[in-house]
Amino acid sequence: MTLGTDFHRRLEQILSCPTAPFDEGLVHASIRETVRRTQGLRASEDADGNLLVTYGRGRPGLVFACHTDHPALRAEGDGTATVLGGMPPHPLEASMLVGARLRSFDPDGPRAQVTRILSSKRPMRVRLRAAGKLRKGQSLILDLPDLRLSGGRLQARVVDDLVAAAACLTLFDRLRRARYRGTVGALFTRAEEVGFGGALGWVRNTRLPRSTTIVNLEMSKALPHTPFGAGPILRVGDRSTIFDADVSLELETVARELAGGSPSFRYQRALMDGGGCEATIYAGAGFRAGALCLPLGNTHNHSPRGGMKMEYVDQEDAENLVCWMTAYTRQHGKLDPVRLRKRLHEALWRRSRATLKRTARRVKES
Ligand SMILES: [Zn+2]
Repeated sequence: MTLGTDFHRRLEQILSCPTAPFDEGLVHASIRETVRRTQGLRASEDADGNLLVTYGRGRPGLVFACHTDHPALRAEGDGTATVLGGMPPHPLEASMLVGARLRSFDPDGPRAQVTRILSSKRPMRVRLRAAGKLRKGQSLILDLPDLRLSGGRLQARVVDDLVAAAACLTLFDRLRRARYRGTVGALFTRAEEVGFGGALGWVRNTRLPRSTTIVNLEMSKALPHTPFGAGPILRVGDRSTIFDADVSLELETVARELAGGSPSFRYQRALMDGGGCEATIYAGAGFRAGALCLPLGNTHNHSPRGGMKMEYVDQEDAENLVCWMTAYTRQHGKLDPVRLRKRLHEALWRRSRATLKRTARRVKES
């Protein structure tokens, strides 16, 4: 399974938009522009600037959710900057940031380099050497390439979570091409990296009923039992919450069917408890929440070999994520978790039923 050309195009579109916590405007503008130019898509924004895009008519019963920010720095106007989000992921690794090259959103704008860690407590504070005048409050991002495809890897300054945003637009493209007549939504939330701000606002504002299925899409640090290239992951929970068992069963049923029909479709199932994700917020608010994620390398741009590098995922894993989302969209509402579970248990029961009966007397009389 290679990366579809449609997905590649959406990745180029979305990953070229600089972003930071509380400064996601360029990503949202790009998505709104796609909605404006695409028949059958609608967009609405809530009071906190979260963006819901809907394909088809009426209210979506299924919404895929992702976040549009990424850890970045905010210039304080006095030669220092505050780090927003976990970059690097652990405060003990703060020194990794020394020497990191930064730029403003405007590629021709001022540049800077981190020279010293002033405080490694969150939010971290660093000293900068700047080339050009930095405005107070200006976002600074790592000076790394937008996107590079090589050796089966998809590398980017921001994989987490803009690859998921591009996957949502590709889902819409594919549904449109297939003349799909149902309804599905994609929710783009803000400020996830600083504590789920956007998602927390959205659950307070939204009028979507709690019966809505929300499948959160994330990138999550690859672990020894969830390697690259073994497929996107059915994330059954994060470090604080187990997600809806029915939604996980539906997602896995669809994945099993896809794997049965095509040897290039692979998936994994795991509790990714290395971090939290927004599905916890949706579950906590009473939605039917599930989650899919991709194994991520150089999480939050921290290379285990030192320094700040591009994040990466496996290209096939990414393509399979979109396949999975598309297939689940088509099946959503048609799958009955009670019947699915019953079918599974019936098959198991048939395996041991006869022997159980045959040996029952002996066990009871012993
Ligand atoms: Zn993140």
